[in-house]
Amino acid sequence: TRDPYDPTNIFARILRGEIPCREIYQDAHALAFHDINPQAPVHALVIPRGAYVSLADFTVHASDAEIAGLWRAVGITADLLALTDPGYRILSNIGGHGHQEVPHLHVHLFGGRQLGAMLP
Ligand code: 5GP
Repeated sequence: TRDPYDPTNIFARILRGEIPCREIYQDAHALAFHDINPQAPVHALVIPRGAYVSLADFTVHASDAEIAGLWRAVGITADLLALTDPGYRILSNIGGHGHQEVPHLHVHLFGGRQLGAMLP
């Protein structure tokens, strides 16, 4: 059974254009924008257009095209932000133990400085 998707979550509202974001990239499958509370000099979020709560939901229920589209958008976003050559980190929080706060799948991209060792 799938976790119910709350269509009033903040990223659903960004996808519908109800609240603004600092957009980096968008296509048929995904939207990339800057995090409102950056934890690194570059902190971007990449989200699928589809209604998926988390990567756990997405990897089981999304179509192959949606899955390919999200990861393609992650790579394109990293290139647009010039992260790919110096390097960067991706992270996706899932559920309660993962400390996920917004219940629409998002992949964080952190970069722009030398990052420390992986947490936790
Ligand atoms: P989570 O803890 O769910 O993985 O991360 C949610 C992220 O969304 C946080 O880094 C937070 O700063 C970001 N965020 C929350 N609300 C907004 C918003 O309205 N706009 C943008 N651009 N980012 C947001």
